[in-house]
Amino acid sequence: MPPLLFRSTNGQSPAVNLREAFHAGLAPDRGLYLPEQFPQIPPAEIAGFARLPYAEIAFRVLSKFTGGIIPDDHLAAMCRDAYNFPIPLEKIHNRVFLMRLDQGPTASFKDFAAQMMARMFGHFLRDDGQQVTILTATSGDTGSAVAHAFHGVPGVRVIVLFPIAEVSVSQRKLMTTLRDNIRTIAVEGKFDDCQAMVKRAFADPDLKHIPLSSANSINIGRLLPQSVYYFYAASRLARDGEPMVFSIPSGNFGDAMGAVVAREMGLPVKKIIAPVNANDEFPRFLTSGHYEKISPSRNSVSNAMNVGHPSNLARLVAIYGGQMDETGKIHRQPDLAAMRRDLFSTSVSDDRTRAALKNFWDQYQLLLEPHGAVAWQGFLDWLAVEPPGDAPAAIIETANPAKFPEEIHKMVTWSPDIPPKMEEALKLPEDFDRMDADYGKFKAYLIQKYAR
Ligand SMILES: *Cc1c(COP(=O)(O)O)cnc(C)c1O
Repeated sequence: MPPLLFRSTNGQSPAVNLREAFHAGLAPDRGLYLPEQFPQIPPAEIAGFARLPYAEIAFRVLSKFTGGIIPDDHLAAMCRDAYNFPIPLEKIHNRVFLMRLDQGPTASFKDFAAQMMARMFGHFLRDDGQQVTILTATSGDTGSAVAHAFHGVPGVRVIVLFPIAEVSVSQRKLMTTLRDNIRTIAVEGKFDDCQAMVKRAFADPDLKHIPLSSANSINIGRLLPQSVYYFYAASRLARDGEPMVFSIPSGNFGDAMGAVVAREMGLPVKKIIAPVNANDEFPRFLTSGHYEKISPSRNSVSNAMNVGHPSNLARLVAIYGGQMDETGKIHRQPDLAAMRRDLFSTSVSDDRTRAALKNFWDQYQLLLEPHGAVAWQGFLDWLAVEPPGDAPAAIIETANPAKFPEEIHKMVTWSPDIPPKMEEALKLPEDFDRMDADYGKFKAYLIQKYAR
């Protein structure tokens, strides 16, 4: 079978294979890559997932995209190597479960994608003996997950930009203590500034001689591994192809897009709930059909979701037959009725986030952190408008509570234990550069450090 092709959401650049989409990150026309059509997993194969470990499900799902590009035995080994940590599904009540995606090396769900991406990049670079510089803007968790995943991968240099005042101390230390092939830059600005600097660098003809790539959620390689845990949840919670409900706390909508991808591949899904914090541009759009980005983005306790213009909306809109360009302008409306049928969104303020975290602890003796609390409150908001029936549900907890000890202490009067792996990183000396939110300075930095 010929390799699957990927097309840009802006429709102005040629279709490419997975390897090319991976290296490019953003398409030349500044759109995002999506598969020409989604490979299908037949119901009988999905039913068989019930007996398989996570790594094997990951292999079954991802191999549908990598055929003709990565040999199956290599991919299977990468999956076993990357996914060697537990994925707890904790019962909340009846058929509602909390899926904790926080047991990876940096205690965030971003490890699921970063670990696989690093192995795929390593595989491609070994093949063609190239060097690549990965630029990543982070509001906290992407940077540390990417830095850990790529640390020591030959042929890869990573530069992480983070907003100095918007990341927690432990989030920062998880990326600034690695060194070697990992550089971190503290930007005097917001996440949006970091993201804008990275995007301009990709589009800058003066930097064409530096092979740049991205590990942000614009990269299709980030998205595909994030579809796997929805198949996994269903394999453990759904009976005979029952449709699932997922509640996914959303910022750039890469995680929620993982669920959309799973559904496009054939996973039965009743509803994808994608709650946001005070950055409510998506729920407003879903209600009104009118999209307006929020600039500057609003700060909140769920800081990894402080996104005023989620890059993955271009993909979501495309899947529903519309077209949105990188600035957020809609050239063709998506099928809004279908979007509303499949998706639900709601804005959860900081007050409601904190109350949800506390009530959840009081009621179920299960600890959330602020992002998971947004997911829980989003689920409750959905229950208030739509009868769930008996559908199994997975609430996605995207980070370990120990990453937010101060906030949690305020709510439940004690602080969670720090996982041992994190504790080690917190003791190491930090090393990072500082920079104004100024593209000219960033460009000069790249040229000075990386031009040959
Ligand atoms: C990144 C992140 C999110 C948001 O995920 P998106 O894919 O950007 O929507 C939610 N929670 C945590 C802890 C994160 O790090």
